[in-house]
Amino acid sequence: MLDADFFRRWLAAAAAAVNREADRLTELDSAIGDADHGSNLQRGFAAVTAVMEKEAPQTPGAVLTLAGRQLISTVGGASGPLYGTLLRRTGKALGDDAEVTPAQLADALRAGVAAVAQLGGAKAGDKTMIDALDPAVEALGDSTASFTAAGEAAEQGALATVPMQARKGRASYLGERSIGHQDPGATSSALLIAALAEVAG
Ligand code: ADP
Ligand code: MG
Ligand code: MG
Repeated sequence: MLDADFFRRWLAAAAAAVNREADRLTELDSAIGDADHGSNLQRGFAAVTAVMEKEAPQTPGAVLTLAGRQLISTVGGASGPLYGTLLRRTGKALGDDAEVTPAQLADALRAGVAAVAQLGGAKAGDKTMIDALDPAVEALGDSTASFTAAGEAAEQGALATVPMQARKGRASYLGERSIGHQDPGATSSALLIAALAEVAG
């Protein structure tokens, strides 16, 4: 079973990964965007870390909805509302239970990713975070071992964005010139799912 502490540890691991990889995320965004993805997420996850200490939410659902709200209010870029929606919708789907099963989390994350796709209008192959998140939630099953498979699927999904032409977000303004670069948001999504696998393992 996964309790509120597990979800706080997931967000802390995600914050650490974002800090570690911030320069790389910003570098990827400088090729096909506006060179702020790393700093956007650093600001957002620092705020998430701070609010967790201040408010100490006591259920998995409350942890994720609070984190999502914080990302929406602190990240200026497109990724803030999108990741904020992912966490809020996932948290809402977990309800008020004090502990949830891996299968509940898998279903909740599927609802979260569907909400991201609806908000941003991106489909698989549009060279966005959806290209990492979709394969990740498909790989999730009813065991924590499946989190590792999801992390690998997200990483493969991020790598697979390189030959794609962007159809959503800033990178789409580049048209064919977006081809040949890895999408920054798909890359950060792979970090978030890898962080989940890390705390589950
Ligand atoms: P901004 O583009 O506003 O500067 P960021 O640089 O923080 O925001 O985030 C860019 C990432 O957001 C992209 O690499 C892409 O993965 C994701 N993204 C942008 N628009 C969309 C969308 N409509 N749907 C899904 N993901 C998107
Ligand atoms: Mg950007
Ligand atoms: Mg920006």
